[in-house]
Amino acid sequence: MNHAQKQDPAKTIHPLINMLAQLQELSLVRSEQDATSQENHMEQLDISIKTLTEQLPIDIRTLFLKCQKKDPLAIVPISNNVCCGCGLALPIALVYAVRACEKLYQCTNCARMLYYPEVRPRRVSHKQARRSEPRRAGIARFSSLSLMIPALKGTERDDAIAELALRMEHEKFVDNGAKLVEEALQREAILNTAVDYGLAFPHVRGVEGGGLTLALGISRKGINFEPGDKTLTHIIFFIVIPTAASVFYLKLLAGLTQTFSKKDARDKLIACKTPEELWATLTKSTKQTIV
Ligand SMILES: [Zn+2]
Repeated sequence: MNHAQKQDPAKTIHPLINMLAQLQELSLVRSEQDATSQENHMEQLDISIKTLTEQLPIDIRTLFLKCQKKDPLAIVPISNNVCCGCGLALPIALVYAVRACEKLYQCTNCARMLYYPEVRPRRVSHKQARRSEPRRAGIARFSSLSLMIPALKGTERDDAIAELALRMEHEKFVDNGAKLVEEALQREAILNTAVDYGLAFPHVRGVEGGGLTLALGISRKGINFEPGDKTLTHIIFFIVIPTAASVFYLKLLAGLTQTFSKKDARDKLIACKTPEELWATLTKSTKQTIV
């Protein structure tokens, strides 16, 4: 086959997929700002979203906006030959075609646009609760005692994020902790995840293979998330999110912000000295907001 004679379609489709994924990420970041009642940066996000949307070819733009109207996830990855948007197994020929980037394909079931991601950290499924165990409620569905760090060692944002991500890897909730850290920092680069009340929600989306998972780290001294800003962050929730849980994640974010917008609840969390205390305080204080 002589590739020199015609342009490799992957060369045009691949950048297009990157643009669509970036645009979707910006829209989700905007929704996160909404969920945590952050007024600032909205204008900047809206401009970025508008600029990127206008750069799309008209047919793709129409398709993207049509998909997004139905659901915030317009473009989703394939994981284990399954569409991460609707969970349906895809015909193997379609999986190969998406991987080859010949054109932009849609899921045969949910019509979302598909892409084949590069190597990504994955949720390790054997850590999921066994069927025989009673169904856990509230925040216990997404976290565990082993993911509580009452005194983060890191005094800088990146170190604290790495500490939480590597704890998740060490406790066998995820693989490829180094990549997880890298992706969390890329997300911070779009817009840092610190919000009011000294809370921050660093996260990585598209970690497939299991459920949404949350680790919690406390810094009594406080960590600066935004260079040049004097606000200190004391309570850091590090979260990995499977694509299909992207919308649920926004609810979790709103619930946690609601709980810890109250000084009393924050003080109790920050006062915890052991992982056991932190776990008990977190589950108790979120009983009403995370159901
Ligand atoms: Zn689908």
